[in-house]
Amino acid sequence: GKNMNQQPDYVFKIVLIGDSAVGKSQLLARFARDEFSLDSKATIGVEFQTKTMMIDHKTVKAQIWDTAGQERYRAVTSAYYRGAVGAMLVYDITKQQSFEHIARWLEELRSHADKNLVIMLIGNKTDLGSLRAVETDDAKEYAEKENLFFMETSALEATNVETAFLTVLSEIYRVVS
Ligand code: GDP
Ligand code: MG
Repeated sequence: GKNMNQQPDYVFKIVLIGDSAVGKSQLLARFARDEFSLDSKATIGVEFQTKTMMIDHKTVKAQIWDTAGQERYRAVTSAYYRGAVGAMLVYDITKQQSFEHIARWLEELRSHADKNLVIMLIGNKTDLGSLRAVETDDAKEYAEKENLFFMETSALEATNVETAFLTVLSEIYRVVS
């Protein structure tokens, strides 16, 4: 196999967006370090985390950017979106409002980012099924209409987190290779 410390064949910038408290930072912690915290503080200082993996015998380094509590509308700067080739657009399945806000996050994303951007809509916190407020079918329908990938995840239970990131990374790879 190839030495993972070498220069990667590809570096893909992925951005996490969506309302505050939907679980963006915990999805990243789960994917990058297989960690989860129930009392996560606002991310301070760290702009992104990386994870290197093999796709189709190539080394792919994912550079995943997390908002540092800038989730107010229009507060995320264009530098955050610059160069992104993928995006995880996250809502909380127990918070209807976080799903309603997806449309404006998508609009903001599309106005800043590359037109070939690969976008995954993510309904997080499926472990809280008894509190569900957003139906899977409604989100699926929205994703189809907007041409987004869609997955429901739980950062807490580590359900679909790796699959969601790998799906986006593989699709980006397919587009650029
Ligand atoms: P962010 O503001 O979008 O980055 O949200 P955080 O990642 O900081 O998470 C906000 C809160 O939701 C924290 O208390 C997390 O522990 C919690 N949380 C995140 N993901 C999940 C999940 O999948 N299930 C449950 N039950 N709680 C979660
Ligand atoms: Mg956060």
